[in-house]
Amino acid sequence: MSTIAAISTPNAVGGIAMIRISGEKAIEIGDAIFHGIKKKKPSEMAGYTCAYGSIYDENALLDDVVLTVFRAPHSYTGEDTIEITCHGGLYVSKRILGLVYRQGAVAAGPGEFTKRAFLNGKLSLSQAEAVMDLISAEGEVQLKQANIAKNGRLGQEISNITDELIALMSAMAYWQDDAEDMPPELDSRLLINTVNNIKDRLVSLSNNYQNGIIFHEGINTVLIGRPNAGKSSIMNLLCGVNRSIVTDIPGTTRDIITEKVLLGDYCLRLSDTAGIRETNNQIEEIGIQCTYAEAEKSDFILYVVDGTVGFTEEDKETLRKCRGSKVAILWNKSDLDSKEIPLLNVPVFPFCAKKSSFLDDMLHILETIFGTYTPNASTSIMNERQNALICQGISLLESSVKALEVGCELDMVYWDLEEVVNTLRDIDGENVSDDVVKAVFENFCVGK
Ligand code: GDP
Repeated sequence: MSTIAAISTPNAVGGIAMIRISGEKAIEIGDAIFHGIKKKKPSEMAGYTCAYGSIYDENALLDDVVLTVFRAPHSYTGEDTIEITCHGGLYVSKRILGLVYRQGAVAAGPGEFTKRAFLNGKLSLSQAEAVMDLISAEGEVQLKQANIAKNGRLGQEISNITDELIALMSAMAYWQDDAEDMPPELDSRLLINTVNNIKDRLVSLSNNYQNGIIFHEGINTVLIGRPNAGKSSIMNLLCGVNRSIVTDIPGTTRDIITEKVLLGDYCLRLSDTAGIRETNNQIEEIGIQCTYAEAEKSDFILYVVDGTVGFTEEDKETLRKCRGSKVAILWNKSDLDSKEIPLLNVPVFPFCAKKSSFLDDMLHILETIFGTYTPNASTSIMNERQNALICQGISLLESSVKALEVGCELDMVYWDLEEVVNTLRDIDGENVSDDVVKAVFENFCVGK
């Protein structure tokens, strides 16, 4: 396999940058470009040790660096690896990388270091996916979840399940080949119970994934309401910056403005929209249609009512059109003389966009609507690929149960169970195709 190299730190100026080289020629390349202050070459250094020195291009000094040696198989990729930490200027790190290429390394593709770790058996596919989730974590829940998955908890649960299925399959093969007495676990009732039980464990994994999805991926939230209700002011309060224009001229916000907002464990993908009202203005009307379209694809509608005006027929009509998502009404401008909150079939919360103390109220609203979420081993499915395989396993087990209930031959059930085992093994990439591996790593960043 070729020796690959990339700048592993972001493509931006910073305090330091790190260039990673992995493969058979990594240490040889280190020898060619690094001049250690103690005259020791990387090939003379033990694994997990580092040295201070300089990198020269011909005779020109490029930078003073720290070079770390990792020897196969005790490295992230499982291959010989060199990491060069230099000053964080883009030009200097790119010059060092160019030098590394000239010594025979090739540019690493997205996620190629992690792909090699997977191909060399250092990580399973679900652990490799967790590395990417860790890098892109935006809050405490995502961080905890990614670390659980990175420790291989999903793989453990799946391998417990496949071990149980394989034990059943062995008993079936034994009974069909030469046993005189049927093994007790193959008694029809008991077998149905066991298969159902395994199926329920997969169902619970998949349900936990569905319930936690908004915590992994963020809640698509849209602020809707009549003009002047205070949507843009609420957007600005939640974003902590003046993101939307606030005026008391109705119809100011026409485009949809979207921002990511972190509140406690919740990540909101928050969109401010055009105020909804009867209008003859063509541009404003387009904005209102966009608002409805945004509402349709959202998980959560924060419907803003101007508390000084109260809940109007127009509000009622708009809310009627916004079905499908979870809804909370913010009874805004509670600092002013407010109308009485009517009894509605949607939760209503007094709010004030002018006071930052209402950020705590917003957190309380999110807890009320979405509950809390504690990542643990049973919530370790992280993405649609893994969930789709679990769902495939569930439907195969359902058909096995049906076959057993109508008294089908055990060898038919055996083939179903074997297919379940193969499907579940794809989660950790045990027999997964090259195309799937390629698709998984395409989403990674270069240098990881
Ligand atoms: P939008 O059209 O729904 O986006 O409403 P804006 O956010 O532009 O607010 C309309 C007007 O109401 C502005 O003058 C705001 O300063 C004012 N406003 C918004 N929220 C509050 C609030 O909670 N209290 C008070 N007193 N004024 C508010």
